[in-house]
Amino acid sequence: MVENSYPECRERDCDGGNLLPLSDFGSQGAPIHYKAWVCSNASCGFNIKIRNGDVYLNEPIASGASHSPRVR
Ligand SMILES: [Zn+2]
Repeated sequence: MVENSYPECRERDCDGGNLLPLSDFGSQGAPIHYKAWVCSNASCGFNIKIRNGDVYLNEPIASGASHSPRVR
């Protein structure tokens, strides 16, 4: 039985968050497992992700608000 096996977030100001693995889907619909890890503490927001072989730390999380739809 493995429970709570996610690594702890190491951010200094983080209050007990765990890093959760997120998966995505590629352009061909192929699943990309564990593409990103995000802290479960919403007020922390620490995240790490890999894209094209490069690792990105603490990119701003898109809330969707910045994608303002264009008026046609
Ligand atoms: Zn955290």
